[in-house]
Amino acid sequence: MQQYLQQDIQFLQGTGPKRADILRQELQISTLEDLLTYYPYRYVDRSRFYKISEITSDMPFIQIRGKIHGYASIGKGRGKRLVADFTDGSGRIELVWFKGAKWIPENYPVGKELVVFGRPSVYQRKLNVVHPELEDPEKKHAVSSKLQAVYSTTEKLKDYYLTSKAISKLMANLIKGLPQRFEETLPAWLLQKLNLINLDSAMRQIHFPDSIQEYKKAELRLKFEELFYIQLNILKGKTERNKRFRGNVFETVGESFNTFYREHLPFELTGAQKKVMKEIRRDMGSGRQMNRLLQGDVGSGKTLVALMSMLIAMDNGFQTCIMAPTEILAQQHYRSISSFLEGMDVRVELLTGSVKKADRIPIHEGLLDGSLNILIGTHAVIEDVVQFKRLGLVVIDEQHRFGVAQRARLWKKADVLPHVLVMTATPIPRTLAMTLYGDLDVSVIDELPPGRKAIITRHSYDSKRLQVFGFLKKQLDLGRQAYIVYPLIKESETMDYKDLEDGLESISRAFPPPDYQVSVLHGKMKAEEKQASMSHFVAGRTHIMVATTVIEVGVDVANASIMIIESAERFGLSQLHQLRGRVGRGADQSYCILMSGYKLSDEGRKRLDTMVATNDGFEIAEVDLKLRGPGDIEGTQQSGIPFNLKIAHLGRDGQILQLARDTAELILVEDPGLKLEKNFIFEKHVKKGNPGRIDWGKIS
Ligand code: ADP
Ligand code: MG
Repeated sequence: MQQYLQQDIQFLQGTGPKRADILRQELQISTLEDLLTYYPYRYVDRSRFYKISEITSDMPFIQIRGKIHGYASIGKGRGKRLVADFTDGSGRIELVWFKGAKWIPENYPVGKELVVFGRPSVYQRKLNVVHPELEDPEKKHAVSSKLQAVYSTTEKLKDYYLTSKAISKLMANLIKGLPQRFEETLPAWLLQKLNLINLDSAMRQIHFPDSIQEYKKAELRLKFEELFYIQLNILKGKTERNKRFRGNVFETVGESFNTFYREHLPFELTGAQKKVMKEIRRDMGSGRQMNRLLQGDVGSGKTLVALMSMLIAMDNGFQTCIMAPTEILAQQHYRSISSFLEGMDVRVELLTGSVKKADRIPIHEGLLDGSLNILIGTHAVIEDVVQFKRLGLVVIDEQHRFGVAQRARLWKKADVLPHVLVMTATPIPRTLAMTLYGDLDVSVIDELPPGRKAIITRHSYDSKRLQVFGFLKKQLDLGRQAYIVYPLIKESETMDYKDLEDGLESISRAFPPPDYQVSVLHGKMKAEEKQASMSHFVAGRTHIMVATTVIEVGVDVANASIMIIESAERFGLSQLHQLRGRVGRGADQSYCILMSGYKLSDEGRKRLDTMVATNDGFEIAEVDLKLRGPGDIEGTQQSGIPFNLKIAHLGRDGQILQLARDTAELILVEDPGLKLEKNFIFEKHVKKGNPGRIDWGKIS
């Protein structure tokens, strides 16, 4: 059976080489199995007939029964179309064809009883259906009476008449031609326990459901299976890794930590910080190597948690290293960590690309003889010349800018793998984290330090720019600083650059020197120019920073309290949230103003509304996941993790995912190697749960 399903799609009845080519190009379908797992995205109820008088243009599909009254050819050139006047006695609706109209009047003569199926819309205040499906109700099997699967297609597919209906036809041919039942991929005991239907019924029902209940059961079964094998794969890998890689045991919480905690910590830790510290201490003392992802919104106090973890490492005789994605961020960490530790006997050094050769020598020596305790840096820290005496903990800030291979190079710097703490301010919904970082343990700081003023966010239309500038002026005159950000889209960098240039001109006119100074930051500038521009702004010499999105994640300018985002509808939600996180870092009330035109897509409006409604990064990430699907979530693409879920949706199937994970966990607790007879079937399929990710714990 498995072999049968690997056959080329072109030999399926109804395809042939040409259509097979198109299917391959457009939908990456090349085998029978690929087609089978091309699941419908929705179903329409073909058992229901509407009256024309009931129809509104926002219905996704309608099915009506009636007669064509007459045909007319209307319009010229591209607008040329055939229009049929259709009625069922309750009202009238127009049927419209822009192409392929020639044979219509012949096949569907005036006055004949017909069933019409399609999507209603309104044109010139009249209801119509463009390119409807027509059927003769007297023909046998003509009218489908059941739920009908709808498959997504593309314009190109339609050019080859590969409509949803045609795909359904191919699916029917495929299923009819199967030599035997689908082989089960989950053990019977599990199906029974979770009350799931078998694979054979599920595959048939998902494409040709007998009823809504049946397709729901099929969908549950298939979604569960997909998510289950991913979780089983991830968790099995993790179990094996835990067995193979011992970690350094940090038993003592000693003098450095205690001195810092009692005498240097200027404030009380938040509850969330305390909770996370406990989790980290438990990991580092467990004898296993820690692989922990620390999530927390910007400003939630992750750096402090990292610092305290590093002090524990020090108390146990280990060196630590913190790695940031940019020079500016590394410097920022260096400054804040050095000032936290002032007066303590801890040697901290900064190592970035711009540190001179001569200055590196003492750093290298300090690392080798163990006198250097904390190294802070950029990519420079992973160069081969950088060798530690005893590296015990690595902290990686803003993880998704670091490639997997780069992280792996740090592993080589110690005999026993160092503990790893990855920090990110990009909130990842739990469901996504479970899958993307399923092999990492996740800690969340879900509480901001007290006394922060929530950022006020408003949406403003471009036509109100004068008012916005007026508001900005008031704030600048109070001594604050502002960011104005323009979108940057790769495909048309020149055009976006022009947006920024035009914007810059009007900003300079509204805020002329010498009273106001403006900094600029965009991708076409050289690294030194960027650096210079940023440091003018950080030092307060300039008042407005006009930038594209190259402005750094995590840059901290406490006095900057206004963020204006131009063409905000062009940004993704998590990007908007990241940008907003640039303000709200000081004591002053901060503002974020989202500019857009009046014309907004539903999704664009939803994004802006969400930003106005909440400051909670996790809530925003959940909405983002629902709107976009995980493949588009920022960070997942850069991390090079191919996501190819065929039926499950991480945004909507959180409960099924949880069930899948819990189930996988239970199975592995009882049978870590999947060696029991009742679990044999898992061993055979667990590989397909591999989302293609490089397991960086294994690169050592
Ligand atoms: P993150 O790295 O998560 O963006 P930081 O660690 O940079 O956040 O913390 C942001 C600011 O809040 C810093 O100035 C830090 O000193 C301060 N801070 C951290 N924890 C607390 C706390 N528990 N109470 C008050 N201020 C805190
Ligand atoms: Mg930070």
